Amino acid sequence: MTNLDRPTGSSMSRAGLRFWSAVFAFAVFMVDVLTPLEGAVAVLYVVAILLAARTNRRNDIIVAATGCIVLTISAYLSSHGLQTIASPALRALVSLAAIGITTLLVLQNHAAHSALVQSERRYRRMFDASRIGVVEEDWSGLRAALDSLQTEGADLRDHLARHPDFVRDARRLTRITDVNPALRKMAGASDSAAFIANVDKLLGENDRSFLDALAAFAQGERFHEGETELVRLDGRKVPVLFTITFPPEPDGDHNVLVFVVDITERKQAQDALLAAQAELAHAARVATLGELSASIAHEVNQPLAAIVTSGEAGLRWLRRDVPDLKEVATTIGHVVAQGRRASEIVTRIRTFLKKVPPQQDMLQIDEVIEEATALVARELAKDDVALIVEAPHDLPPVRGDRIQLQQVLVNLLVNAGQAMSGQPGSRTITLRAGTVDRETLWITVQDSGPGIHPDDLPRLFDPFFTTKGGGMGMGLAICRTTVEAHGGRLSVASTPGSGATFHLTLPYSQEHASP
Ligand code: ADP
Repeated sequence: MTNLDRPTGSSMSRAGLRFWSAVFAFAVFMVDVLTPLEGAVAVLYVVAILLAARTNRRNDIIVAATGCIVLTISAYLSSHGLQTIASPALRALVSLAAIGITTLLVLQNHAAHSALVQSERRYRRMFDASRIGVVEEDWSGLRAALDSLQTEGADLRDHLARHPDFVRDARRLTRITDVNPALRKMAGASDSAAFIANVDKLLGENDRSFLDALAAFAQGERFHEGETELVRLDGRKVPVLFTITFPPEPDGDHNVLVFVVDITERKQAQDALLAAQAELAHAARVATLGELSASIAHEVNQPLAAIVTSGEAGLRWLRRDVPDLKEVATTIGHVVAQGRRASEIVTRIRTFLKKVPPQQDMLQIDEVIEEATALVARELAKDDVALIVEAPHDLPPVRGDRIQLQQVLVNLLVNAGQAMSGQPGSRTITLRAGTVDRETLWITVQDSGPGIHPDDLPRLFDPFFTTKGGGMGMGLAICRTTVEAHGGRLSVASTPGSGATFHLTLPYSQEHASP
């Protein structure tokens, strides 16, 4: 039962009020009938109606009013019969009018009161059942303290920030009047009294958030929103979002409402997101490192193999009965050249992964083709692979990084050779170059190997895709990225059983384009 719902302003029960209302009405009736007051006393029936009205029940009011009218008329009839006696009749009429007017006023008041009861009940239901924490506070004492505050012309906020003692004391001037169950639960308090007794502990050292609220209150704002931490009675900290509503005057300060929402889950989600982002950034760095080492390992493999081949050849020349020092010198020269090349490749890959644009030299593609084929010539010859090159010498120049483009062709040639190794019959690679149009050059590397399985085609250029036992799956990924960084394209076509053809395009340097 809410305050408004109780019989107004008394500790008497409804039944008691009804009883005394009836007793009073009967007493008035008896006095009216038995004394010579001739109806004047009937005006006192209004007291019986007012008593009935205190039950806050419309029906009680109507019953009491009807009863009083009946008693007034009965008393009049029993004393005077039906003969009209001017003065007592008039008094009876005045009494009836008084009863009527009082009843109307009381009924009207009852309607306004009922609306208030409804509203209070609705508010109570929300207060008690809400999952949002709500605390009712009285800030009128705080208003008085603020009014007597001397800021000496300084901005209020600055003044408050410079006087933490005032802010701390001000917090104690806010008086909690009620705490709803949701907030009690959030704070780990068994009842409102426990909450109120421990409020300093609950709010911890959050003077900062209170300072902001205080400034908003002093500046006459209607709402204030903020974030803070509630220290539960068991010591656990709960991050919360709160909104304070400052209702308008006259009695707004007595009725300050603070709504509190637990945002632990939101905070956890935010933290998880930040952690995931950090993880991702770390993973990306690790992946880049992985890619870097895989690329270096892949690319230096070929010059290393060439160094070993040349070294072995050199040893053979040296171990002859009569060592051929000229041949030894040549092979050592190869070893040195391949060693330099390996270190250049490493440098290029590192700059490449740093996203530094490739070197922009003016290159004659037939030269690049020649250099690349020379690099793999021994390896191919060892595997009995015939290499046919059909590239005109008068192709326009392209802009790019010589070593990187050499590596693309070396990779395609080595792959072609490996695809055919162990295959009976002829093993041929044909490298062709030509012009698509004035802007674009094409190069194809075609082999007579087993070709590529259609299922593998979509993944062929993915990093780490390989079908070879000791393969790394980096070659084609590096080739495609390199070609694209040069503004070109790399694709493959293959009919299983009749070899594979890699097709690449590169833009011609436009500085040398004929008008
Ligand atoms: P890896 O050579 O380490 O496997 P690549 O990226 O260079 O890595 O090649 C990926 C895969 O593409 C190879 O494992 C092979 O299956 C296929 N492939 C590449 N070139 C050819 C080719 N000329 N003929 C058939 N398959 C090829």
